[in-house]
Amino acid sequence: MTSSTSPSDAPDRTRAKSGDAVGSARPQVRPTAEGWEQARTSEGRPVLQFASPRVKQPPAHLADLTLEERAAKLKEMGVPAFRAKQLSTHYFQHWTTDPAAMSDLPKAGREELVAEMFPPLLTEVRRLRTDNGDTIKFLWRLFDGALVESVLMRYPGRITLCVSSQAGCGMNCPFCATGQAGLTRNMSTAEIVDQVVAANRAIAAGELGPKEHDDERVTNIVFMGMGEPLANYKRVMAALHRFVDPSPEGLGMSARNITVSTVGLVPAIRKLADEEIPVTFALSLHAPDDKLRDELIPVNNRWKVDEAIDAAYEYYRKTGRRVSIEYALIKDMNDHPWRADLLAKKLNQRGRGWVHVNPIPLNPTPGSIWTASEKPVAQEFIARLRAAGVPCTLRDTRGKEIDGACGQLAAADE
Ligand code: SAH
Repeated sequence: MTSSTSPSDAPDRTRAKSGDAVGSARPQVRPTAEGWEQARTSEGRPVLQFASPRVKQPPAHLADLTLEERAAKLKEMGVPAFRAKQLSTHYFQHWTTDPAAMSDLPKAGREELVAEMFPPLLTEVRRLRTDNGDTIKFLWRLFDGALVESVLMRYPGRITLCVSSQAGCGMNCPFCATGQAGLTRNMSTAEIVDQVVAANRAIAAGELGPKEHDDERVTNIVFMGMGEPLANYKRVMAALHRFVDPSPEGLGMSARNITVSTVGLVPAIRKLADEEIPVTFALSLHAPDDKLRDELIPVNNRWKVDEAIDAAYEYYRKTGRRVSIEYALIKDMNDHPWRADLLAKKLNQRGRGWVHVNPIPLNPTPGSIWTASEKPVAQEFIARLRAAGVPCTLRDTRGKEIDGACGQLAAADE
């Protein structure tokens, strides 16, 4: 096996060196949208939408507020401030918004109080389960008809929920189903939080396969559903507070079990590093060279590969939390051995032990240019990273048979 020796960032190499472990000729497939038109600017660049369209916002909900703000709001309504704790306990500890279950509140005015503090935010449209029941995908309709989804996954010793942070997404990545219709709007803090509370309810009702123990709930959250979380910074930050704040102010979860994943909005990554919530940080890199990444992740036209990796490294330096690099392996597009080597080089240049790479086979659309890498190619990619001392774990594609990844269900329903 000869090692691949691409010297620079912009090797327009269409063939691997003969003697590569996996085939001697490796084509270079370029990203392009298939079956839909990618919105472009007058200069021909993919459109990036950073700001949410100005549309009507969902009604205010208890989970939008801190405990202090809840008490203040109740006071304004003429309700004693201590009721904030009671209402919060019902929601964040018992996952209920049913006035009948709130016998610690006076009967008179209870229904009105509950209606004011807990307006329904998520209406279940559909729920899909894998055959063995360890994965549930929820499709939710928001108050204005927008559709979002969350995916609940049971693993030994943990339960992970993949949440959405925006209805649609403005980042226009050509391989992602969510990007195709653009950004509808930012989700509110409570709309984000309510996905977790709804999942906890489903778990408590025994709907996620056989329980490991009695008081099970969501232990891990990943912001890998619809949307770009760092483009909805304020509301996502408030949602993170609700997740980690101790009960009854919030859910009392551990920050390290919460992963914020981004295309690489560099200023927002820097800001996140300065917050006092050391969540796990994930960068969706998908290519180590600007030439490919400019097309694969359009935001790369704004912040380049090296800037994004620098910001990730800074996140590690400030928080001490090892960061993740997401890398969807796409056949003949970004899975060339030289790209594994270049990625390893760029990561090792910054230091050792600060980063972990998560390759994930692309959620495949067979026959399209967007197809998962072949197994030996994926293995070679991982082997090269490991050989260079970069820890690397192949992620599973849980829920493939229920389109459990990447906006496909919501897209199919529109
Ligand atoms: N906007 C954020 C979070 C949402 S997407 C981000 O980009 O990180 C969560 C992850 O799923 C990202 O790494 C994204 O690149 C990846 N993804 C999107 N479509 C995919 C597909 N078809 N197959 C595999 N991964 C995909």
